[in-house]
Amino acid sequence: MRISYSSLETFIVCPAKFKFGVIDKIKVPQSKEAFFGTIIHETLRMLHDPIKIVPPTEEEILEFFSSHWIPEMWPDKDEESIAFSQGVKILKEYYQKNYPTNFNIVDLETRFDAQVFDENSKETHIITGKIDRIDKIETGFEIIDYKTSKKMPPQKSVDENLQLSTYHLGIANRWPSIEEKNVKVKLSLYFLRHSEKLSTERTAEQLNETRGKILRIIREIKEMEEKEEFKPRANPLCDWCGYQKWCPLFAHKFLEKKGPNEEEMKKAVEEYFEIKAESKKDARRIAELQEIINQYLDKQNLERVFIDNGYITRSAQERNSWNEEKVREILEKVKRWNEVSKLDSAKLKKILGTFPLETQEKIKKALKVKKTFTLLKEKKTK
Ligand code: SF4
Repeated sequence: MRISYSSLETFIVCPAKFKFGVIDKIKVPQSKEAFFGTIIHETLRMLHDPIKIVPPTEEEILEFFSSHWIPEMWPDKDEESIAFSQGVKILKEYYQKNYPTNFNIVDLETRFDAQVFDENSKETHIITGKIDRIDKIETGFEIIDYKTSKKMPPQKSVDENLQLSTYHLGIANRWPSIEEKNVKVKLSLYFLRHSEKLSTERTAEQLNETRGKILRIIREIKEMEEKEEFKPRANPLCDWCGYQKWCPLFAHKFLEKKGPNEEEMKKAVEEYFEIKAESKKDARRIAELQEIINQYLDKQNLERVFIDNGYITRSAQERNSWNEEKVREILEKVKRWNEVSKLDSAKLKKILGTFPLETQEKIKKALKVKKTFTLLKEKKTK
């Protein structure tokens, strides 16, 4: 299989979105967020353009940015002007920290192929992608990917980031001497809105895990393709998804002919929202009232307060938890640990990629859905 990294990422987020965009190739208009990211990337590309002997001035890059800006991408005028000023701020800060001649830039927006061999099917899969910037640094190479996201993730998620791991595989495939000579590859995400770079590295073992992870995703894609079943996966990006019109989860929103009890359902949902909001308010107020009562009890050195029609008593409650290590040690000595130990599914998921592929398959087959239950989760959009 030949597949781009961004398609793999789309599949991880939502298989249905993957089907609409990658398999069915349905074209949707670019979102304003994607446009913002693209124009910033293009401006940084222009800043570092290797053809230019003298780097552009700050004014020139801002001029490039504003001449490519499309205000109509933002239906709301205020939102548009905020986005434009954010873009200017990002570029000014970047320019201060990244004057082109201070860096030894090897390549920009460069395409790569990462090869992943599947022992089972004897097939070599090719993951393609584009790296924003590669620098030659004292210790080896630095791969930099620009991010225009508002949030900065914790370091742990950068250390486990699949995109960066795949980029490492890609650059090692392009320059085999990286692996042969054990050249260091620094992997960085540059958060432009915060003007901060988070960096990490990968060990040979982690790169093997990455190959395993990619193979698992490819197998999942193939399985779904065979079953012709790419299920929608609700996620925080759904509200901005361009495929809502085709998505079964959003079917009701685009139904031309609504159900017979539409009005009754609408009222039920409205009331549901109201009750939920009230119960949240009540929970907050109860916490405030408890605080007042507790303070009174503390000051008066009491454990019970009375009013005309009742009283409240405070009592200390102890919650015990086992020291698993100790209990295990004791029970193992008497050969009884098997009776109480249970499978830690979170842990198993984490280490799954470290098993040989055959074992991984066996473990995955042992997974069964015990109980299916429905859950009502509300979200107010207005
Ligand atoms: S709206 Fe959400 S669930 Fe539907 S296709 Fe888009 S991302 Fe997937």
